[in-house]
Amino acid sequence: MKAARVAERRVVIQEVAEPVAEADHAVVRVVSAGVCHSDLHLARGDWGGQASGGLGHEGIGVVESLGADADRYVQEGDRVIFGLGGMGGAYWCGSCEQCLGGEPQFCAQGRALLGTFAERIAVWAPALTALPASVSDLEAPLACGGLTAYGAIKKLFKAGIFPGSRIAIVGAAGGLGHYAVQLAASFGYRVIAVDIGAERLEFARSLGADLVVDATDDTLGDVGGVAASLVFSAGLSGFRTGLSLLRRGGHLLGVGLPPTSDGMLELSPFELFARNLTISYSAVGTVQDMRELVELAADGKVHTHVGRTGPLSDLEHIFEELEARKYVGRAVITDVTR
Ligand SMILES: [Zn+2]
Ligand SMILES: [Zn+2]
Repeated sequence: MKAARVAERRVVIQEVAEPVAEADHAVVRVVSAGVCHSDLHLARGDWGGQASGGLGHEGIGVVESLGADADRYVQEGDRVIFGLGGMGGAYWCGSCEQCLGGEPQFCAQGRALLGTFAERIAVWAPALTALPASVSDLEAPLACGGLTAYGAIKKLFKAGIFPGSRIAIVGAAGGLGHYAVQLAASFGYRVIAVDIGAERLEFARSLGADLVVDATDDTLGDVGGVAASLVFSAGLSGFRTGLSLLRRGGHLLGVGLPPTSDGMLELSPFELFARNLTISYSAVGTVQDMRELVELAADGKVHTHVGRTGPLSDLEHIFEELEARKYVGRAVITDVTR
């Protein structure tokens, strides 16, 4: 079968062996696969190290065969979505402190799900979520992009920042941010969307933002303090912008992962003292979050804006366009057979 591999920081399509369903795994025929910024970072070695093996962690497909113990979770022919953004998406133990505490994505034995850019993939069956027919194949990016945004919004609740509050979403028109704007607006937050350029800001407004602001604009300072800044930017400058927008006692919730070459986020302890800030991070979500998100998508509360589609052989071109910010929203591979 065909599958994407990384060679010298570029994507190549190769013939590889068919996956086999082990005991509690299912082999899924991939129908569509979302292109996440993380795939680009992994391929280019932006976070240190170099990707080997499969690439891609957002998929929709049809269960083709089951391992001996997998029929408790799914059946052959089921249409499913899978991904979880690379952490906890392939396996978690279910019995450690993190798993029992409701955060299996931090399980020390957790394994990453990689390899949706392929004709087939073997997936740990408990990590699969059934997909209703009303959610289209183009919604594959919900599996990481959507889930990550939803996980971040749920963290606001845990932090005691409830609907009605003013929050900033930095990188609002991006592959993650555009989900966060829709979800936050539909929950009743007052959303200040921060991005760069008129087209991206207009897009954020169309998703339900109350106010849109250009991160490069002098008027940024007029926004006034927000209760929380959710930073989805893939650049460190977005984190600085998010910090600058917080009111006293505000909460910086990081989500984007800038390349390590962007350097460090510098913070003065005096500033933390004077402004009483909280800083935390939100990484992906759980399978239960994924099920809730699928329900929200089926209800029309959240929708993937697809800015680019193409066959598997287009993947390297799509990465180049993503680097050059040539499309808005997400890219989806809609044919993995060519
Ligand atoms: Zn991702
Ligand atoms: Zn565990």
